[in-house]
Amino acid sequence: MIVVSQRRRKIFNLALFAFSAGVAAVGVYMLYLYFNPSLSDLFWDLFTGVRNQRLLYALFAFLIAIYPVILFSRSKPVVEYKTVTVLKCYGCGYREVRDFHRGDYVFKKIGACKACDSERYISAIYSVPISKVEEKEEEY
Ligand SMILES: [Zn+2]
Repeated sequence: MIVVSQRRRKIFNLALFAFSAGVAAVGVYMLYLYFNPSLSDLFWDLFTGVRNQRLLYALFAFLIAIYPVILFSRSKPVVEYKTVTVLKCYGCGYREVRDFHRGDYVFKKIGACKACDSERYISAIYSVPISKVEEKEEEY
């Protein structure tokens, strides 16, 4: 699930980057036209003020291009989760936390305890942010 959402995010980022680059390119082109007007542009500018319009377009284009960057700088980093399984023993205080294995489920019996020979079972399965694995383990 994490992988899928990250891939989607990547595609989204890529699309947004392409969009920004495109808009920025339009802005650069408008600036180019502003600073290097053709003769006909200069002529029409006398009547329409087209050059100033282009400067405005360029400004808008840059603003739109920069907007996603501002959005991104605010977005939180993706938190990765890890699923862990807690093993306990019916007979003694045995307790172990290990990575989740395929086929694990709560109350599944997983063989005899090495210390007291009672049945061991899975008491909990949960996922925690990877950075918090250590502290969360203390709670169970
Ligand atoms: Zn035991």
